[in-house]
Amino acid sequence: MDITGEVLQVAHQFLKKVRRSGPDNVMAVCPFHLKPDGTEERTPSFAMSLTKGLYFCHACKTKGNLFSFLRDIGLTRDIIERQYRFLIEAAAKNLPPPPDPLRCKVWDIPPIEEGVLGLFDYCPTRLIQQGFQERTLHHFEVGFDQWHNRITFPLRDLKGSLVGISGRANDDSMEIRHKVYTKEYELWRLPARAEVDKRFILWNAHRLYPEVYYRSPGETAIVVVEGFKAAMWLWQVGMTNVVALLGSYLSWEQQWILERLGATVYLFLDNNYAGRNGTINAADALRRSLNVRIIEYPERLIEDEDAQPDGCSPDEAIEQMAIAPTYLSWLLKHTDQRVH
Ligand SMILES: [Zn+2]
Repeated sequence: MDITGEVLQVAHQFLKKVRRSGPDNVMAVCPFHLKPDGTEERTPSFAMSLTKGLYFCHACKTKGNLFSFLRDIGLTRDIIERQYRFLIEAAAKNLPPPPDPLRCKVWDIPPIEEGVLGLFDYCPTRLIQQGFQERTLHHFEVGFDQWHNRITFPLRDLKGSLVGISGRANDDSMEIRHKVYTKEYELWRLPARAEVDKRFILWNAHRLYPEVYYRSPGETAIVVVEGFKAAMWLWQVGMTNVVALLGSYLSWEQQWILERLGATVYLFLDNNYAGRNGTINAADALRRSLNVRIIEYPERLIEDEDAQPDGCSPDEAIEQMAIAPTYLSWLLKHTDQRVH
């Protein structure tokens, strides 16, 4: 028997007044609601797909898939597993993919309660000493975790929900420089969390999303850097449309966000091998749909492999952005250098 016949058999077994409605659907009386006066429903308002196993009641709005149907109708997990597993799997294969699977990932990470950030309500003096202003640290909600001796940076998804905390070592002797918190939460009697996948986070994009999204594409510029400090530094010097990759590699998900934002992208990654590699990778991915420019390091830093955007003075950063070449001319220049 094909899947349509099998689902039809399930429908006949558990539903009343089943009748075909089109080749792939049946209508029946909904088993999940009573009429407002408490009597049994008689009108067929319950639609079920015979190919996908999905159902929807037009009256009580109950909806679900074949598994939830069998469970809600009262079958035990054991019986469902033994008798219907293959049918459930076959029906699931007929489901259409989500309209935009990448969006689902960057959109639906389970959030952490915001109150956690209150634990870190201290100003990290180390960053003040490095030239960051308090208003900058406040804007980016940077805090200090005295229990783990780490400077804390909230990770927010595109909607702005808190989905993770990244702790940066406050002491150069600490082995792990950046750590996305997992078990650390247990110290505050909160459940441990799986490490949020950094591919889904484009740091600070939630601030830009409403601001840039509603402007016409190409009107605005977004600077893309690798890390928290570079992003905060550029923000502080006035380049406020800045996001961080949290690494040198642009993921598909981050690419998706940048494409939605639609602005000209200025790549300003670290001045080392990984940064240059990351620049080429990101630019190749983005240039199909966006204008891409590369911010180069000023003359005095050009040979410095440790240079990062926060090593530039405010004037240097602004000047280098103003003269940033397009990706293609940047690429030609660098290819030239390699040939000679
Ligand atoms: Zn119903």
